[in-house]
Order: sequence, then C-alpha cells, then structure tokens
Amino acid sequence: MMIKISLPDGSVREYEKGATSMDIAKSISEGLARKVLAASIDGQVCDATRPIEQDVSLRLLTWDDLEGKSTFWHSSAHLMAEAVESFYPGVKFWVGPAIDRGFYYDMDLGDKKMSEDDLAELEKKMNELARQNNSYVRKNMAKAEAVNYFSEKGDEYKLDLLQGLTDGEITFYTQGNFTDLCRGPHIPSTGHIKAIKLTSVAGAYWKGDEKNKQLTRVYGITFPNQKELDEYLAMLEEAKKRDHRKLGKELGIFTFDDDIGQGLPLWMPNGAVVIEELEKLAKETEQSADYKRVVTPHIAKESLYLTSGHLPYYQDSMYPPMELEGVKYYLKAMNCPHHHKIFSATPKSYKDLPLRLAEYGTCYRYEQSGELFGLMRVRCLHMNDAHIYCTREQFADEFRAVNDMYLKYFRIFGIEKYVMRLSLHDPEKLGKKYINEPELWKETEEMVRQVLIESNIPFVEVPDEGAFYGPKIDVQIWSAIGREFTLATNQVDFAQGRRFKLEFTNKENSPETPLIIHRAPLGTHERFIGFLLEHYAGKFPTWLAPVQVSILPISDKFLEYGKSVLQTLKNADIRVELDDRSEKIGKKIRDTELMKVPYMLIIGEKEMSDNMVSVRRQGEGDKGSQQLNDFLIALQSEIRDRNS
Ligand SMILES: [Zn+2]
Ligand SMILES: [Zn+2]
Repeated sequence: MMIKISLPDGSVREYEKGATSMDIAKSISEGLARKVLAASIDGQVCDATRPIEQDVSLRLLTWDDLEGKSTFWHSSAHLMAEAVESFYPGVKFWVGPAIDRGFYYDMDLGDKKMSEDDLAELEKKMNELARQNNSYVRKNMAKAEAVNYFSEKGDEYKLDLLQGLTDGEITFYTQGNFTDLCRGPHIPSTGHIKAIKLTSVAGAYWKGDEKNKQLTRVYGITFPNQKELDEYLAMLEEAKKRDHRKLGKELGIFTFDDDIGQGLPLWMPNGAVVIEELEKLAKETEQSADYKRVVTPHIAKESLYLTSGHLPYYQDSMYPPMELEGVKYYLKAMNCPHHHKIFSATPKSYKDLPLRLAEYGTCYRYEQSGELFGLMRVRCLHMNDAHIYCTREQFADEFRAVNDMYLKYFRIFGIEKYVMRLSLHDPEKLGKKYINEPELWKETEEMVRQVLIESNIPFVEVPDEGAFYGPKIDVQIWSAIGREFTLATNQVDFAQGRRFKLEFTNKENSPETPLIIHRAPLGTHERFIGFLLEHYAGKFPTWLAPVQVSILPISDKFLEYGKSVLQTLKNADIRVELDDRSEKIGKKIRDTELMKVPYMLIIGEKEMSDNMVSVRRQGEGDKGSQQLNDFLIALQSEIRDRNS
C-alpha cells in the first residue's frame, strides 16, 4: 500500500504506508534527516518517528522553524526533569512547557530546596544525559493503567492531569531513566541538545493560584550548538546594560510613583521631548497620507462598550466603572468605538471614503500587577492609533499604504529585521470563534497576502489565530542586539462596522457597511520608547535626543561667549544646554557623555575670538573646530532628515 505525501514545495511523493517523517527526510537527504526535530502533518506537529498511515501534507521541522524550536525546548524540559530526578529522588513534576525563549518545569521537591547555586550541577548532569543520545519513546497507555501507575507513585499532580484526559488519548514518553505523562511531540533523541543553560529558579503556585502549594520552577534554554548559546548569553548581557528601566532612570525619561500607582508611568521632561518628536513624525506622516486628526475623551458610557462588545468580553482588562447620576462610565481601553462615533456623526457617501481618522489616543487597561513590567506592560498607554474606513474595492490600496508606512518607520529607526505574522481564520470555526463572513474572510486574507508578497515583506501565516472580526497582522521587530519585540498590530475588521451600524451610500445609492482597518505602526509610546531605549542603548539620534547639544566652556572666562552660542542655537529651535559649572573640562565632558548628548561644543580662547566651536560627536570623538554657523546648518539638516 502506497501513500501520497505533499511537500511544501508543491511536490507529491509516494511512500509505503507506515513510513515515518524521518524516513521521508532520509529519502530526500541524510543531511536534512540529521536536522529534523519534528514534523507538521496536516498542520499538526508530531514526532518525526510516528508512522504515517494515509495521504497527508508534510512539513519537516528543524531548528529554523518555530515549532521545531518549541519541540526542542519542551524535550529539553524532559531532559532537565531526568537530571532533577537523579538528584532529588521522589520529586513530583507538574508541567514543563516550552516558552518564547527556552522552557521551564514546575516541580514539587517535597521538603528539599533548590537554589541558583544548584543549577551548575544540574547542567552538568543534563549534558551527560544528552550525550547518551537516548531516544524519546512514545507509548500509548490505557487510562486505568496510567492512574494505577501514578497512584502507586503517589503523584497527585499527574493524577490531576489525568482527570482531564480521555481514555485512548493518553501517552507516556520515556528517555533514558525518565518517564513522563505527556502528549508530546518530542525530538528524536537527546543527542540533538548540545548546549544547555539553566537560567533561574523561582517559586510558582500550583495552577497559578496563590491558595495552592508553591512549587519550584526552573527555567532554562538549550541550543543545537555552543555558538548559538554563546551568542544568546552575550545578547542577554548586552540587554542588561540596555535595560530600558535602567536607562529610563539614568536619562530622566520616565519614573513610577507609589502614590500614582503601579503601571502608570510619569513621563519626565526628557521623556516628554521624545514623545513630542514621535508624535510630530506621526502627524507629518499621517498628514501627507491624508489622515484626519481627531481628539476624543478618556471615558465613555457603558452603552458604548456594550455596542462594541468590549463588555462583557473584555471586562477583565478594563478598569471598573465609575457611577455618576445613575450612569456607568468606563475608562477607554481602546479608541475604536470613539472613532466609529465620529464616522457616524454625519452621513457618508462613497465619495467620503476612504476616511482615515487618527489620534494619539490615551487608553487604560487593567493588567494584573504580576504582569506589569517597566514600560513594556503598563496600565496607561498612548497609542499611535488610526482607523481607516473604506470600501471593499479600496481595501487593497489602503492596506498597501499602511504597510508602506510601517516600512518607512522601520527605515527611520534603523529597524533592519522584522516579520509580519498574518493570523488567519479557521473555516470550521465560522460563526463561533470568527464572525460568519466566509467570503469576506477569503477575500481579505487573499488581498493581505498578495500585498505582503508584492511588497516583499517577510511574513509567516498563522492558522486559526485571527481576531474575531478579521485577519490580524502582528509586527515583530528585532532591536539592534537581536532581541525580539511585538510592537504593533494591523487588523481588518468586518464586525465593528455592523455593530455600530456604520453606513455609507454606495454608487448604486444603497447603504453599505465600510470595512475598517485598525492600525498603529508606532504601537504605544510606552512600548516603542522602551524598545528605542534598548535599540539605541539610550543614544538617541539627534532628532529624537532630549538634549541635542551641550556647550562646555573650558573656564568661566568663556561663559559670556557660551551664552551667546546658547542663544544662537535656541533661536534656531535646537535643544541646547550650557554647562556653566566651574568644573574641569574633563569632568564636564564625562558627565555629558553619561547623558548621551549627541553633540558637545567645547569653547575656549581660539573659538571665542573666531566665533567658532570645537565639536565632539558622541561615539565619534573630536571633529575639530568649525564656524558656529556651519555647525548649525549641518545640524539642522541632520535633524530635518531624521538621520540616525
Ligand atoms: Zn513532553
Ligand atoms: Zn482600533
């Protein structure tokens, strides 16, 4: 009996029934087979060693695939568990998932404790076990048998997991001396794991509930070679130096205060400058793309959010309501409903579309206190928001223009690596998880895909992760040191227009509901400035720098000339400071460098007599003496062009 295997390059190959993905990889090339970690069979990730019984479409997964990495990391969690068990006999394991970067395992060590000091020994043991190159062996087990197995072991955690599982779907995995209840998938054998770093030990309540027992959680990360681990550790080290919370404090960008509240950043004068420059950029860009600016209140009545559907579905992420004159008001968690009301305030015809409404809107979201993190997870955010109302015919052009705007911003900020994640619907879940508009889904997904292909934008497609109301594009970008951030989203919406009864009169003179694009290429000030602090290591390009020029007189004798330089630059709208302290010039230079000011102008006898300045460029050092006016002209052009 032969089966047909469709491969991603469009080819179809025939194999004996029962062939495994690994057999298929080997038939293509031995080199490929050595790299295969798992397989995606008809979209489902499974062991590369599983026999295939019917015609399927197959994608072989390696370290280069997200699913390959997560299978690798989850298998590493099993390896870690094996090492832990050898040091802590009787340990009970809860769950050990792969995470964005690496894995963890939650465990009950009984009356024993583990600290960071124990991790090196564990790593050593893991390396030893990895080298044994033990296979991960899958075995089906009847539920009764599994319950028996763990009852005898006295493992209440696995018994709890078993409760939620159906007989016939229960599998065990064994590698070396370790067996675990797990649905898999796993990599073929432990030998793939060549570099191991256990990063931390933390407490974690069972099932995340603080009423439950506290378990021990060990985090780690592994790689298929030492080089990638070294690079990863170097990147972490650099990220620590560039931590936006540390830099934000040192550079006077933002602060938090207990009396204001957790997750509510206070933007300090230097931070406010960055915010204003970003908004200026957004306004210029949006104005030239024919957006219209609007301004909306920070609160709205309950009825608005009942119409939008945020209530009750989104209630947990909203601040509780305040009640006035018997009416409930909510802080706005999104700007969209307010903008929809501006759309519907006056009658619209097809001639009014596309209509693009933009606002740097302030939103409030109730994030759990445990989730808050510097500027990355906050409760008050300023969003580079806009909503585009258009006809179906206009959609592709509008979407393309939005993409071009993203690309323009990436160029300005020197963001070289980015990927768009296009989340699609699942036709089987129409009317449940997704609004029941099969035609619109197909049409817009195809248009979005075409635009991404035509614009040569790197993207991945993610099935069954669309928003309820339309396909969604998350934009992932990488900072200068290679750390990944999800900053902005871009969404298509066929639902809100109908919920809000938005209409325009079409060419046939009948009412029609517009499509809506939600877009926020610069994300929120909070996340974007947090990202920029890391990306630039606090050294903002001149156009964004809170202080662009610092004037450093060599001694008090040159203060008067310093003041006149200050005035000249101020008159030209340069953000400039004069260091009038009676300090040695060396100290003045060091202090200015710490504040990461792009230009220092050092002035002494020669500069004063010739109306010159001696220029030091941050990161480049001494640039020599220049006429003040020449310096100013070059500076203005650098700022105008937003060169970095
Ligand atoms: Zn597993
Ligand atoms: Zn929106």
